[in-house]
Amino acid sequence: MVVHTGRHFLQIPGPSNVPDRVLRAMDMPTIDHRGPEFAEMALGIMEGCKRIFRTRNPVLIFPSSGTGAWEAAMVNTLSPGDKVLMAETGQFSVLWRTLAERFQIEVETIAGDWRHGARASEIEARLVADKAHAIKAVMIVHNETSTGVTTRVEEVRKAIDRAKHPALLFVDTISSVGSIRYEHDAWGVDVTVCGSQKGLMMPPGLSFNAISDKAIAASKTNRMPRSYWDWAEAIKANKLGSWPYTPATNLLYALREAIAMLEEEGLENVYARHTRHGEATRAAVRAWGLETVCVDPLEYSPVTTAVLMPEGHDANQFRQIILENFDMSLGAGLGRLKGRAFRIGHLGHFNDLMLMGTLSGVEMGLDLARVPHKSGGVLAAMDVLKSKEETVEVAR
Ligand code: PLP
Repeated sequence: MVVHTGRHFLQIPGPSNVPDRVLRAMDMPTIDHRGPEFAEMALGIMEGCKRIFRTRNPVLIFPSSGTGAWEAAMVNTLSPGDKVLMAETGQFSVLWRTLAERFQIEVETIAGDWRHGARASEIEARLVADKAHAIKAVMIVHNETSTGVTTRVEEVRKAIDRAKHPALLFVDTISSVGSIRYEHDAWGVDVTVCGSQKGLMMPPGLSFNAISDKAIAASKTNRMPRSYWDWAEAIKANKLGSWPYTPATNLLYALREAIAMLEEEGLENVYARHTRHGEATRAAVRAWGLETVCVDPLEYSPVTTAVLMPEGHDANQFRQIILENFDMSLGAGLGRLKGRAFRIGHLGHFNDLMLMGTLSGVEMGLDLARVPHKSGGVLAAMDVLKSKEETVEVAR
């Protein structure tokens, strides 16, 4: 058995590395979730979430992975037989569609090649054609973690407005909030779906729904049965700093600490850091002579870079070689990219030297796996990191 020394490199695009501060924050006694100390903490966390999601409205927190927040979004706003419009951008959009269909929601899909984000113009055309307003919601994934492609949410909002269509806008931000600029209110999003284990630097286990007034209004008349996920019960309890069931107290300690860390750094700096790491990673990929899955520079993900393997080379074998030799986990290709692509996660609690270690592991792995490539990727990334320092002063 090989004994690895030092820290494992967890470079999948989430769960991301959990900072020691967040781990320590969880290592505390679980307190009475109906007591005054808990209520004060919970109310503070709820306000903090509003600042991170950039909304004045409630952000509901569920004890589940991100998929639970997808389900909560649907069962609170839609009715069986409703129609929704979904842009296929990658594996996560496909899973979201499957979930909707299980709730007897009719999904009109805009097919995609998994190398582009959702196209606002196509969404606009479908909505304009829907004269009877049968489409109740438009569903998009902000950062498609399976492909490293982002969708420009503001463009989709503008398209819905141009079409003068009343559909709700649902956005999956499971791998974007806390790492890529996101504006729930300013971008007119009705339901934002998120998870704790990526940009929010926490372990898996919490999920979120940020909701607009229009989404809350829809939840008062829709006909989908639900109980555990019911927004109304949660909103009522949250006003008093509690939940209608036992909350995940120790994960809430972690969330409180993660919000503090994001705000100490400043959200603008958090976004700039991820953008810079994305640029450095792509510089390495280009220098290796390899191709990213994402083809449009306006849609490059700041948090995930998916790289296509040259023909005849298996991405999973390559990942295995890197895991065995360098104790680093890279993301697998998912769905139709299985074996054809690997993904480098550069999100959450991350810095320049962690990125350089990651890219060094990839470059050495390319050699060991005899994947045809040019050397010099690591040097190219270093050049990007040396040339860019972008921080803004955080007001305290
Ligand atoms: N949506 C996106 C964009 C994701 O990245 C993920 C997880 O990686 C999910 C949905 C599913 O979330 P979870 O695995 O937390 O249930």
